[in-house]
Amino acid sequence: MHLFSLTCTDLAAALNEGWGKGMFHAAAVYRQVFKRGNSDIAATPELFSAAVLAKELQHAFDISAPDIAHMVEQDGVTKIVFNLADSLRVEAVLIPMPRRSTLCISSQAGCRMGCIFCRTGAGGLHRNLSADEIVGQVYAVRHGLGRAVDNIVFMGMGEPLDNFDNVVQAIRVLSDQHGLDIARSRMTVSTAGLPEGIKRLGELGWPRLNLAISLNASNDMLRSKLMPINRIHPLASLKQALQGYPSWQKRGLLY
Ligand code: SF4
Repeated sequence: MHLFSLTCTDLAAALNEGWGKGMFHAAAVYRQVFKRGNSDIAATPELFSAAVLAKELQHAFDISAPDIAHMVEQDGVTKIVFNLADSLRVEAVLIPMPRRSTLCISSQAGCRMGCIFCRTGAGGLHRNLSADEIVGQVYAVRHGLGRAVDNIVFMGMGEPLDNFDNVVQAIRVLSDQHGLDIARSRMTVSTAGLPEGIKRLGELGWPRLNLAISLNASNDMLRSKLMPINRIHPLASLKQALQGYPSWQKRGLLY
């Protein structure tokens, strides 16, 4: 089991099932890994007197972030290319801003939306990223590179609402106050426009999570040429989905 795919509550449930432990131990491990950036569970201060347990937990949980294959820095913007376990590559981009920095992360290896202006879309979809691979991009930048990550945008490779369950679980982990503690109001899910995904996102009851729509054209004829998804979900159905999204009037973004 990968620790990056678990909230602290999920971890407590796993510890309870496997070791009869609960929230105290889960919170201690979570702090060690996510707040201190230390994957050595045996060094967790709260577990100094429980060496056998610490060793078992170290073996039971994967705590590895994706490898950084290479980085390119230009005009203060850093592109980070990750090498996944199956050798697929995804990118994240760190954008410094005056008082905070934003990390743009990937949700899929490739993408099946086929937008004609996008290099990722031209290659098709290879696979969805797991929740731990999504969280791992943030972990690697914050703890591996030691760079601040204040805001997160799901605007890298892939269509996040096409990998709904893993993206939502990643948001839960990233916002967990026992760990990385990035508020949902500092996260933006950017979509090419999948009405069903927008509806499901709205049903989560997370009014502070930001939603952005990649519009690119204001009429169906042009938009369908640029973004094939518009042939299946034209602007009228997108508009209807947005009108049902709880916080759209206050926080939505079209671009
Ligand atoms: S949805 Fe995003 S990643 Fe996918 S093809 Fe369109 S622009 Fe590219």
